[in-house]
Amino acid sequence: MALPGPAPTAPTPSASASRHSDEPVPVVAVVCPACGQDQPTPLRAGFHRWREQTFDLVRCGGCGLAYLSQRPRRATYAALLESDEFFASGYSDGTREQGYFERRDDWIDTYDRELEALESQIEYVGRLVQWGAGGGFFGEAARRRGWQVQIAESNRVAADYAEVQFPLPVHRGTWEEAPYEPASFDLGVLHGTLPYSLDPKADLAGMYRLIRPGGHLWLCVPTFLNSALHRGLDRFQRWLPKRVLGADLWRTLKVEAQESFGPPYRLQHFHPTSVENLLAETGWQVERVQGRATRPDYLFARRNLSWRERCVKGLAQGAGALMQARVVPPAETCWLARRPLR
Ligand SMILES: [Zn+2]
Repeated sequence: MALPGPAPTAPTPSASASRHSDEPVPVVAVVCPACGQDQPTPLRAGFHRWREQTFDLVRCGGCGLAYLSQRPRRATYAALLESDEFFASGYSDGTREQGYFERRDDWIDTYDRELEALESQIEYVGRLVQWGAGGGFFGEAARRRGWQVQIAESNRVAADYAEVQFPLPVHRGTWEEAPYEPASFDLGVLHGTLPYSLDPKADLAGMYRLIRPGGHLWLCVPTFLNSALHRGLDRFQRWLPKRVLGADLWRTLKVEAQESFGPPYRLQHFHPTSVENLLAETGWQVERVQGRATRPDYLFARRNLSWRERCVKGLAQGAGALMQARVVPPAETCWLARRPLR
């Protein structure tokens, strides 16, 4: 699918990233970004590799968050998330065939259905704020459904795109700098934002202040990599039919202990408990939890599948049904939470 309309024109830092490809990545050591404790246990050494620098994944002994014990410094990390490679494949971890902006219509359709279900739960349409809004697809789906939408995005490439493509008010920068009034929104949206966040607790607390008492938060994060399912696959990987699953899916599952998985796009991987602790600490009351599967696009977008791909598609459909029922840990988990009336 061609990009509809003009492409973003801002300089992408991938050029500067390649210019400095021989230089070491400037890094900073961190304690747990969710609970602030410094009790890491090793989970996977060298989980990511970027410009000859490796990044170890550890697990917090305090809250169970899986996170990178060292991360790229702020400006370097921002440039990584504005690179062509991130928008081509890094954003989806290999589960999508199309680049981020090329999926425009699919995103809007998906979010339209998601909002329809959400509106039936909360029973209103009103003022919505989203940050980490990416290319504005969720915001645009909401606008078309009658929401008054404000979005904030600090990624310059994504913010450029949203500004050019959609009639949405885009705050370019972090939410802390945005001119939003306290308690002035009905619904706050953090959709896949927290894995990239330098301070997830501050994000949830900041959103709490913007939402009116009685208003809601819609929060979605991937939860597969920090789940008992992933640990089980990891442990029993030698019995998995690697050849049947195929190299792409095998890599997406990230169970190969010896392998490194490219640049450190995501700083942390949440366990549902680590999210629920953060929600409680920042004042939110959880009303509903929903599990979802992430389906590899290439199995569902094509018609002519090989026998192997048909097997994998069946497995993915079965796993997806079990994830939605939360019989097995879901690939993605969403929370509908409420700011209490008092
Ligand atoms: Zn922690």
